[in-house]
Amino acid sequence: MSTYTLPETQEEQAGMSAVKYVYFFADGKAEGNGAMKNELGGKGAGLAEMTNAGLPVPPGFTIQTEACREYMRSGGKVSPEVNRQTEDGLRRLEQRQKQKLGSGENPLLVSVRSGAKFSMPGMMDTILNLGLNDQSVEALARRSSNPRFAYDSYRRLIQMFGNVVLEIPKSAFDEVFDAKKKQKKTKLDTDLDAKALKEIIGEYKKVVKKHSKRDFPQDPHEQLIMARDAVFRSWQNERAKTYRRINNIDDMLGTAVNVQAMVFGNLGETSGTGVGFTRNPAIGTKEFYGEFLMNAQGEDVVAGIRTPVPILELQKVMPEVYKQLREITTRLEKHYRDMQDFEFTIQDGKLYMLQTRNGKRTGLAAVRVAIQMVEEGLITKEEAIFRIDPSQVVDFLVARLDEKDARPEDLLTAKGLPASPGAVVGQIVFTADDAVEKVGHGTEKNPVILVRGETTPEDIHGMEVAVGILTSRGGMTSHAAVVTRGMGKCCVAGAGEITVDERANEMRAQGQVFKKGDWITLDGTTGRVLRGKRKMLPPDPENLAKLDKFMSWAEPFRKIRVRANADIPRDAIQARAFGAEGIGLCRTEHMFFAQDRIPLMRAMILADNEKDRRAALKKLLPMQRKDFFGLFEVMDGLPVTIRLLDPPLHEFLPKREKLMVDLGALPHADAKHKKALVDEYGEYGARGAGDLKKLLSALLHRVEDLHEFNPMLGHRGCRLGITYPEITEMQARAIFEAAVDAEKKSVKTHVEVMIPLVATVKEMENQGAIVRRVADEVFKEKGKTVHYLVGTMIELPRAALVADEIAKEAEFFSFGTNDLTQTTFGFSRDDINKFLPIYLDEGILKQDPFQVIDRDGVGELVRIGIERGRKTRPHLEVGICGEHGGDPSSVEFCHAVGMDYVACSPFRVLTARLAAAQAGASDKLKTEGGRTK
Ligand code: PEP
Ligand code: MG
Repeated sequence: MSTYTLPETQEEQAGMSAVKYVYFFADGKAEGNGAMKNELGGKGAGLAEMTNAGLPVPPGFTIQTEACREYMRSGGKVSPEVNRQTEDGLRRLEQRQKQKLGSGENPLLVSVRSGAKFSMPGMMDTILNLGLNDQSVEALARRSSNPRFAYDSYRRLIQMFGNVVLEIPKSAFDEVFDAKKKQKKTKLDTDLDAKALKEIIGEYKKVVKKHSKRDFPQDPHEQLIMARDAVFRSWQNERAKTYRRINNIDDMLGTAVNVQAMVFGNLGETSGTGVGFTRNPAIGTKEFYGEFLMNAQGEDVVAGIRTPVPILELQKVMPEVYKQLREITTRLEKHYRDMQDFEFTIQDGKLYMLQTRNGKRTGLAAVRVAIQMVEEGLITKEEAIFRIDPSQVVDFLVARLDEKDARPEDLLTAKGLPASPGAVVGQIVFTADDAVEKVGHGTEKNPVILVRGETTPEDIHGMEVAVGILTSRGGMTSHAAVVTRGMGKCCVAGAGEITVDERANEMRAQGQVFKKGDWITLDGTTGRVLRGKRKMLPPDPENLAKLDKFMSWAEPFRKIRVRANADIPRDAIQARAFGAEGIGLCRTEHMFFAQDRIPLMRAMILADNEKDRRAALKKLLPMQRKDFFGLFEVMDGLPVTIRLLDPPLHEFLPKREKLMVDLGALPHADAKHKKALVDEYGEYGARGAGDLKKLLSALLHRVEDLHEFNPMLGHRGCRLGITYPEITEMQARAIFEAAVDAEKKSVKTHVEVMIPLVATVKEMENQGAIVRRVADEVFKEKGKTVHYLVGTMIELPRAALVADEIAKEAEFFSFGTNDLTQTTFGFSRDDINKFLPIYLDEGILKQDPFQVIDRDGVGELVRIGIERGRKTRPHLEVGICGEHGGDPSSVEFCHAVGMDYVACSPFRVLTARLAAAQAGASDKLKTEGGRTK
């Protein structure tokens, strides 16, 4: 936290506070500057920088983030010094404007806007037209000679203030407004005349009184202080908290508050307001991009209430203003050396800049813009590699709609806006809550598409879980469009041919009615919506070529290698296509789930003696050998880490309860039922109805034998291999026979055999000895030797703590951070969703520890494990194969603690490669990153 501090002696002499809370800006001179995002927030820093650059910015002041933090720390109060400096800032603004806040014939009106260090579009609150009251509204009416405008501004203030500051539901105001429109038989807001608006003001005041038990404050200074504090509070609202969690933004940063002289875009036909980007934020093409509305106030454009006009039209309406806007935004882009997202207002033909910041963009756009900017000489290649968040590279892998399956009769509209690319298929839901519910909490999520008239920041939790978003109103810079682009999620916005009735849970298109649960397909790349589940195609090769170019700049900085978790040759091929440099984890149990294997696997498990078990294993051996051979072939000399059997055996058997029910029902079962049971239990050896009783009883008996109260902590991992050494023997034999066969066919191999869930060195010794003995046997039989390593997973806290001992036997470590997280926190990885949402809401956990490594606890064990392991074996190879291996922040951690590689699922290999390259580049270039948030 940086604050502005006077030297102590001077401070005493001056009798002043140490903290400068308020930064003034006007007339080409700002007290702050663009580098002060920590203090001024992104918006405040941008306003200061634009002012200093001589751009037309309405004057004002920024109350810095420390005041917000103070407000949070003291439970909703600020120090008298903050109030003093706020009043002082206001006095200076009044002097500069030669106006008084909310009084006199020419009253000063201000906007009060939030603005945190990282942009959080629409998540926090804003109040416009502050300073209006029963007197100043009349003065504004006289001065503007436009009573309609004055009353409209006043009713907007009461509405915004009522909602944001006094926390009155929006709907309370909407009801009044809609009733008036109905009474006056008008459709558009702009059709209401001054008289109607005056009546609305009267009724709004009643709403305020009824809900908040107080009058709408007439004192402009009281309005200002209340609005400022409400903006501070909005930092803590639910949607802001959710947004921070999704985007990994520190809860303690707080927001700044920007107070600026109002400029009006709703003053008539020579006024307007708009937003835009210096390049296309969806696909990254170099084009001036945005939209505006004449005779409107800022919120109208972004809130998606009126569908705005493309910005190029401004050239026709106001050519001079358009030219000036182009010049200014081009200058801003050059100055910030990044694509800008800007807001402007035109008041009576004069242009004002209200905001500029680095624009949010999709992964596709991020890469394209970065390449363009390097080619334009605006940034270096080193800078370019930080211009994309590694998790955004999945945008390059998103599916495209298969045009052959996009038949005209299924098309519901082709006129939606292509707000965020990719194509998805999902079931319709109409509310964010329904989205969360329908998606479910299991590992297999139901794909849902959130369909709304427009989205608002309150929908953020639904947007997070949906596969795609469809809105019928709003433009390319509407809330839905901006937020989904940041999330890399498919979005079709402003699809005006579709009507959405959220109350009736209905969507209408092409004369058809769609209900919750109906399937539709969205194409965010073109803006189409189609009925049903349409087919998809893999990603566009042209984009992949761009990504390749970009990756070729990043890759030289990467220090750690990236392997994939792959169990079968098909996944291994995919992983190599994404640049995997080996297999970090082959979960051998997955090989047994195939149709032809599972009966043999079950026979092995059901065997209650070694002889029968060995007989079953013997049949499994050639199958495993074939699988391993396939993996060696694909990886051709790259490391292949094969883990011996890990899961509790009863995972392969039917559930105890199910068996009991089936057994109980058997005496009354008719022929049809019995046939169904024979089919079902065929894999366990049922050949006819006559077998059922004996078989089901035997099965139940064995399942009860194997039953454990806590299987995750039970008979699994190396404990299986220790109790049934013949399993380890068979697997080791399959591995080495395959490796020798491969080498004999000139396929290079690099074999790493991995023992799971080791807690003591003795376990490692036991299993290592079996593996080595079998290796020797195979090499002797086959007359050929291959090089191999035997190592372990570190996935129990004890293993990390005694890593120096374990390293005496283990030739490599791979951190299994799924189990390590489970056993460190004592959270069941399968049941965490019962309480995780509440933990996240309450801020007890900042992130899901199964997705992002918990650096303080689990990470500390990893650090200890590496340090102690390498004390024994200085060149010990160390990697990670838990899910964290594909999470950018965890990859950065793995780099920092000196791992040799990370391993993740094939589709996250590119993400991991870029995250690792960025971590390497940060080290080398001594930068802090500088990714666009
Ligand atoms: C782990 O525990 O991190 C791991 C990779 O193993 P699994 O997920 O198979 O338990
Ligand atoms: Mg594990």
